[in-house]
Amino acid sequence: MARRRQIYEGKAKILYEGPEPGTLIQYFKDDATAFNAQKRGTISGKGVLNNRISEHIFTALATIGVPTHFIRRVNMREQLIRQVEIIPIEIVIRNVAAGSLSKRLGIEEGTQLPRTIIEYYYKDDALGDPLISDEHIACFGWASQEEMNDIADMAIRVNDFLCGMFAAIGIRLVDFKLEFGRVWDGDFARIILADEISPDGCRLWDLKSNEKLDKDRFRLDLGKVEEAYQEIARRLGLMPEGEEENAVLDFDKHRKKRGR
Ligand code: UDP
Repeated sequence: MARRRQIYEGKAKILYEGPEPGTLIQYFKDDATAFNAQKRGTISGKGVLNNRISEHIFTALATIGVPTHFIRRVNMREQLIRQVEIIPIEIVIRNVAAGSLSKRLGIEEGTQLPRTIIEYYYKDDALGDPLISDEHIACFGWASQEEMNDIADMAIRVNDFLCGMFAAIGIRLVDFKLEFGRVWDGDFARIILADEISPDGCRLWDLKSNEKLDKDRFRLDLGKVEEAYQEIARRLGLMPEGEEENAVLDFDKHRKKRGR
């Protein structure tokens, strides 16, 4: 098979040229980074699980009318997506204090927030993704006011939907990150949800025990990292019964041996 043209390589994913204009293939790696890539490692099988988890969530969001870049999953590690102009802003939605919010404002981790907070960070690794406000976004023209209204509305809808989805499987959605992109219909631009939604970019705690079931296990060296991703997939009903984890990972191993 002809080698596909690589468009972009990020920390956890690679984008390749898609089969048709306006499409891309999004490949999920096992690589993990934390603290602005100062800590690096691999989480075996993560790419397979994140591909599957993100497919599940984006498909569910489409059913409630949230437009997304997801078209279909093509194999264990790849999905076909719509090409977008990525808005250079990371949207963080918080329901419970944790991470940088707890550190910055001295609020004890685990404190339920009286209202949901939306924060914006400028997507720039060299600058360490600094926290920004609407003023910076307007001043530097990263998105229009109308686009930011759409983004905030969609972020709240996604949060409400995901809080319910995770609560139903005994998980608290503490906080998570979204990215949005712009697509053009002639002269008319619209905003759709892009990137991925997976335990890489969410804080997911067991409702009863508060056990962390997300990338914080890697960030904080808590152990059982692979197991946490598998547990999320399992609770979402994405693993076949029985020898589930092994089946997923074995399949992946065979693919690698065949050089795909
Ligand atoms: N997050 C992310 N990518 C980033 C920064 C944050 O996916 O570059 C996610 C992170 O997993 C968490 C939420 O956004 O679910 C809030 O992260 P926070 O600002 O607390 O930063 P952290 O403590 O992870 O550095």
